[in-house]
Amino acid sequence: MDKQIYLCLAHMSKAGLEQKYVKEAFDTNWVVPLGPNVNAFEEDLKQFTGGTHEVVALSAGTAAVHLALIACSVSPGDEVLVQSFTFCASSHPVTYLGAKPVFVGSEPETWNMDPVLLEEAIKDRIAKIGKKPKAIVPVALYGMPYDCKRIMEIADRYDIPVVEDAAEGFGSKFDGRILSTFGKFGVLSFNGNKMITTSGGGALVCQSVEDKNTVMWYATQARDAYPYYQHTAIGYNYRMSNICAGIGRGQMTVVQEHIDHHKHVQALYEELLKEVRGVHIHRQPADSRYDSNYWLCTATLDANVRVQGQENAYKEVIKTAVGGAAGVIKAVESATTDCQPNDNVEALRVFMAANRIETRPVWKPMHKQPVYADAPVYTNGVEEEIFKVGFCLPAGPWVTDADVKYIVEKIKEAIL
Ligand SMILES: *Cc1c(COP(=O)(O)O)cnc(C)c1O
Repeated sequence: MDKQIYLCLAHMSKAGLEQKYVKEAFDTNWVVPLGPNVNAFEEDLKQFTGGTHEVVALSAGTAAVHLALIACSVSPGDEVLVQSFTFCASSHPVTYLGAKPVFVGSEPETWNMDPVLLEEAIKDRIAKIGKKPKAIVPVALYGMPYDCKRIMEIADRYDIPVVEDAAEGFGSKFDGRILSTFGKFGVLSFNGNKMITTSGGGALVCQSVEDKNTVMWYATQARDAYPYYQHTAIGYNYRMSNICAGIGRGQMTVVQEHIDHHKHVQALYEELLKEVRGVHIHRQPADSRYDSNYWLCTATLDANVRVQGQENAYKEVIKTAVGGAAGVIKAVESATTDCQPNDNVEALRVFMAANRIETRPVWKPMHKQPVYADAPVYTNGVEEEIFKVGFCLPAGPWVTDADVKYIVEKIKEAIL
């Protein structure tokens, strides 16, 4: 096969509605960070999330996390409990605010925040620093729902607000209810690689009009009602552009198709990988409350499986970004760190890449990141174990049945 198969790529509607809405924005001269597309996109998101919540469209999912924490009055010196097994955007905004992330480990079933560890962390932080954490941030890793029931029970018992990071879990459900509507706030992302895209963008799902207004105020430089600029708080320029929202409106017409396709690809991997020794596809718990969007399909590779080229794993310092990372990647001196995927997992990545298939290690737990070396962590080591053996497989609308078969064939070929 000579086509390159990517992990997850933006996919526009066949009808080209994205371009129609963007053109409308130009034709009516609404080329600003507000306007008809922004309002309509927010309404679409409101309906999609069940019609019970308010939605603010923002410039990025990271901005949504940041504003949610501000609205939970996270301040310098406060602590916020964050799932360790996540992308850095879940925890970095805690640091932006001068607060401290305290990381919580994962349960093996969902790979997400372990409710037992969450409660242990809350009790221990109260005992150690004499005050409650200001917020709890569970993450729908690769789209998989966290145990919403138990996490919300614990959060309610201690009266701590939950900021759901559903950036990867747009459209995933727990017990029939869409993720982002359980907590005080729910974070969505429309980056280029997410379930739907606005090229770049995000949204915050809020429980009340009052919260929506607070978030909107902070997202538009926190201006007070005077004829001149008057500020009583520090705000941000985080509102979504009317151009990006036009793309979002078009994408909302295909979001269900996208989710169905991701689930279809997952089912195909489950079927085809059954026979492959040492490879285990990650699937949702056999509990009908879980309904993952399977944003990325993930699997683990047993440590005792040998893979072609394994003896050369990590021999070379990587010169460029692995995958399609944007921006600048800082050059490094060494090919290894003290916490990394097993040699066979790295060898599999290299083998697949040579066959034009993009795979990627699962996200490295935040408490193992040098930048968070001093952050407290409550863990049973589950996420660190998964980091050593896990990898992400291509998913999404561009991945065909033939691609999945080809990918599985190549995995079989790689294993010795
Ligand atoms: C993508 C992502 C975000 C942030 O979204 P951006 O729109 O890229 O800023 C937050 N959390 C998680 C877990 C993500 O994967």
